[in-house]
Amino acid sequence: MKKILISACMYGQNVRYDGNHNNIMEQHPALARWHEEGRLVPICPEVVGGLPTPRPAAEMQSHYPILVTTCDGDDVTPEFLHGAELTLELAQQHDACCALMKARSPSCGNDQVYSGNFDGSLVPGSGAAAAELIRAGIPVFNENQLTQLVQFIDEQEHPERTFACL
Ligand code: SF4
Repeated sequence: MKKILISACMYGQNVRYDGNHNNIMEQHPALARWHEEGRLVPICPEVVGGLPTPRPAAEMQSHYPILVTTCDGDDVTPEFLHGAELTLELAQQHDACCALMKARSPSCGNDQVYSGNFDGSLVPGSGAAAAELIRAGIPVFNENQLTQLVQFIDEQEHPERTFACL
């Protein structure tokens, strides 16, 4: 069975910038099942990229070229890029079929990220690690897309069901 990368904070690890977690492991029965089956591979791109916990909040200021700064104005782009590379490496090592990443994070967000104004506003785009995975062809889902993720996994494992519905 294929592995699924998961944001470590959603797996229950206290790796968020404020030292807390975003545990979602009880939000869907499939998560408990995948955990039991040993299929979930947790990673925090910011921590593996070299940032401490807790750490100042950071947001993307620009996607092209990428620029990530903390709320204090420090440039943390190198750590974010390093974390993104290591996230892709881990996904490839485990031959992960997809990733479940935290929505809106400047590392993990898949389709929206905080705007860079530190006021809670959002802009379209992916975080550094999510973008790296997507570029490599690894689909990224967020915690609001669990139904789609379950369907994706089901289609991966039972392609005959997909054809049966056509
Ligand atoms: Fe969670 Fe990703 Fe932020 Fe780490 S970088 S705390 S895994 S959202």
